[in-house]
Amino acid sequence: MESLIQHARTITPHPSTSPHPHLRTGTNATAPQRPEALFIACSDARVSPSFLTGARPGQLFELRNVGNVVPPYRPGRPTGEAATIEYAVGVLGVTDIVVCGHSDCGAVRTLRPGGLSISAFTTWWWLTRTNQRSRQAAAAAPADPGQLHLLAQLEKLRRYPKVARGLAHGRLRVHGWFYNLSDGRILAAPTENSPSAASFAPL
Ligand SMILES: [Zn+2]
Repeated sequence: MESLIQHARTITPHPSTSPHPHLRTGTNATAPQRPEALFIACSDARVSPSFLTGARPGQLFELRNVGNVVPPYRPGRPTGEAATIEYAVGVLGVTDIVVCGHSDCGAVRTLRPGGLSISAFTTWWWLTRTNQRSRQAAAAAPADPGQLHLLAQLEKLRRYPKVARGLAHGRLRVHGWFYNLSDGRILAAPTENSPSAASFAPL
């Protein structure tokens, strides 16, 4: 942790100095944010949206949780994920949403039969309540369960009212990425019209 603190100290702008160079290159730190995309990713420490995309501060609006989960949209039952998606699309006006799954995901393992751990009961309970379909798929599927889990999140995301309207009017695009930790490659999920896990292809 000490190295993280030391690095944080090096980027803290002093009031009497100019902003740090990484903020000067294309981003005014005091201007309102205008991110290009909402990036939904797992909290896994090995998944870094900035590393994967090369994004500078200001380019990505991020939503991260265990398992890059998009809960089902339920009117009158707000979640942090629903609020973040609504804000990104409705207020910030992002034109793209990326849902990024990854290999060797602990959340996906939790959803498989026998995945319950007493030391992470809340995790198991939340994941199973928000992922009924991907849990069933993971139990029976011959394909990569992580990719099936990603497809399930994309399907739920497209049902959010603001997302559905944005897609219908051509203002919004939804992307599914699957990051393979073993070789560093990113695969693109199939489109809505071809929702087969066999159709994942290099980005
Ligand atoms: Zn994960």
